Amino acid sequence: MTLSTPVGQVPRIGTAYEAKLKKLGITQVRDLLFHFPRTYEDFSKITPIKNLKEGAVYCVKGQLLEITEMRTYRKRVSLITGMVEDDSGAIKILWFNQPYLADSLKKGDNVYLAGKVMRDKEGVYLASPVHEKNPKSEARNPKQIQNSKFKIQNSSLTHVGRIIPVYPETAGVSSRWLRSIIKMVLASIKEMPETLPTEILAEQKFLPIQQAMWQVHFPDSMQQAELAAKRFSFEELFYILLFILSERKKIAQVKAPSIPFDADIMKRFTDKLQFQLTDDQKKAAWHILKDMEKPRPMNRLLQGDVGSGKTVVAAMAMLSAVKAGHQAALLAPTEILAQQHHKTVAAALTPFKLTIGLLTGKTDRFISPKLPNDYIEISRAKLLERVKNNEVQVLIGTHSLIQDKVKFGDLALVVVDEQHRFGVKQRMKLLHDTRLIPHLLSMTATPIPRTLAMTLYGDLDLSIIAQMPKGRKKIITKVIVPAQRQKAYQDIAEQIEQGRQVFVICPRIERTEKSPKDIEIKTVKEEYEKLSKEVFPKLRVEMLHGKMPGKEKEQVMRQFKFGKIDLLVSTSVVEVGVDIPNASVMMIEGADHFGLAQLHQFRGRVGRGEHQSYCFLFAESNSFIARKRLKALEKSNSGFELAERDLQIRGPGDFAGTKQWGLPDFAMKNLTNLELVEKARESAKAILEKDLTLKNYPLLREKVADFRQKLHLE
Ligand code: ADP
Ligand code: MG
Repeated sequence: MTLSTPVGQVPRIGTAYEAKLKKLGITQVRDLLFHFPRTYEDFSKITPIKNLKEGAVYCVKGQLLEITEMRTYRKRVSLITGMVEDDSGAIKILWFNQPYLADSLKKGDNVYLAGKVMRDKEGVYLASPVHEKNPKSEARNPKQIQNSKFKIQNSSLTHVGRIIPVYPETAGVSSRWLRSIIKMVLASIKEMPETLPTEILAEQKFLPIQQAMWQVHFPDSMQQAELAAKRFSFEELFYILLFILSERKKIAQVKAPSIPFDADIMKRFTDKLQFQLTDDQKKAAWHILKDMEKPRPMNRLLQGDVGSGKTVVAAMAMLSAVKAGHQAALLAPTEILAQQHHKTVAAALTPFKLTIGLLTGKTDRFISPKLPNDYIEISRAKLLERVKNNEVQVLIGTHSLIQDKVKFGDLALVVVDEQHRFGVKQRMKLLHDTRLIPHLLSMTATPIPRTLAMTLYGDLDLSIIAQMPKGRKKIITKVIVPAQRQKAYQDIAEQIEQGRQVFVICPRIERTEKSPKDIEIKTVKEEYEKLSKEVFPKLRVEMLHGKMPGKEKEQVMRQFKFGKIDLLVSTSVVEVGVDIPNASVMMIEGADHFGLAQLHQFRGRVGRGEHQSYCFLFAESNSFIARKRLKALEKSNSGFELAERDLQIRGPGDFAGTKQWGLPDFAMKNLTNLELVEKARESAKAILEKDLTLKNYPLLREKVADFRQKLHLE
């Protein structure tokens, strides 16, 4: 048996279990071993029976005085009663619904039992305890028994009398079964190849892989379990960092067009703006323009809360690239946003008479010549032709921009808005698809917690816009309970009477067959019906969702933007970036379905103008946790705080981009462990400094190549 043996070939697994294990993502022996415990139960301390107290969990060791199967009169429930005795006393045992026990346990057996002590009218008893027969090996080793009167260290025990692993389970695959199988596999693998370099093992004082594997599954102590798990988490982080840092070194060796910093043009640009740049905007722009001067590809992340004014900074970078004779591309996450960017960027760059093209997925093929409000529609083929010939200076679009067909004549800068939606894969693809590596500026409103920034975005330089433009009013956020719904509708009506506009967000478009009837689910279509016919029959109510044709969506969005719609019922399509300064209420139905960071983004759709704005949150679930999470939004207006909060509550699994690395769950947890991340980073750096191509570390080289292939679509 080796690590890559299919589990179907492992004794006692067979085809039936093979299929079940697949549900847990386990197909090879390796996966079985890396199926780490979810938690542990400490059954290592043996308590004399006379010391048992009602209500607590204990592990006892003794002899079965009797064991009898009884059928309750309803017959459906099996009940096994027994009695166990040690030197100090005896206690009754009751097992519910485990009829097979009557076959495996016999009167006179020496057993370990662990369970809760309960009381019924006849007295105390051990309730459905976990059991394990006393292994013979122990009987042959009386010294060990002596030494371990209260704490035994008997490695031949699997389920009781030690710290036992509790695994993620699935139907038909219990922790008990997994324990036996994993133990058997661990014992039959003679030699596990060490994956970490020896110098790192020594430096970090980690256990060698085989020992660490034993300690993860069958630890001698909780400290040992933790230490062993840490080794494996470190290892995963170490590989990622090794990959990221070696990519970084590689990229530092390729060339990018050097774009001179033209202070005059930048001044002309800022003079024409209707506002003063904030200090943070100036600082970010400065860093970006300085980066672009270098003949090395920039790789910078511009992070700023919704409404902090990232677009104008990006426009400066694009202007700079274009004025130097090159092209710039701007990628937006949705069509609506691409259109909005097309308009605002075109407007901001009007004085410079640029050609700005728009290319989106399904519908639009515009090219905007010198006059920003007078764009003309041309065919996709013609647009691509002009892009290729460097006649389109700025090209704005959605995902469709990274199709293979789009080839730039002289692309010097790529700006990616809400980069996390594009993910690492596409980012890399953008970089490697072009012959001359363009500079890359990613923008995001989702603050990336520091640990994640260091690991998964470790190849990026970071600029942060922390301050909001002057004069923005704080948005008033309220979690609304059902009894206050009518009042909220009144508030909304009042806002609309004053000329404001309102967003209503629902988690779903429509009810599906599967949606249970008895659960309250808010859908765009139903809310639209209700709001337009019953609640606000006199107002102009419209809806917007992803299943509508692109043209229709754009039409609705445009009408909303020009104040022709009072209330817009929508799905999360308005999540990012849309700028409607006249909107003053963001009402979110089923808010408990969204992450905090996402809710914060929704909220950022309002409060962009001079009006006092409101965010109303409705929850479908009444759970304490759901309400607690939403309350965090009432308290905090900082995207940063909320992102950290989200990370604590939901773990990094939900964070943008993290899934693409294919990290196992146990390592995911450690993405938030700054100390471990830093250690892994240092180790990766040290190895690369010694051996950049990893020629002396074939295993590591393989790992890095794996990532490269996975992420590059090579
Ligand atoms: P985001 O960072 O969310 O992309 P935008 O770039 O869309 O934000 O900017 C939001 C709004 O703020 C826009 O209407 C923009 O014109 C405006 N804005 C940007 N910078 C400033 C500033 N320094 N002062 C005032 N308004 C600004
Ligand atoms: Mg934006």
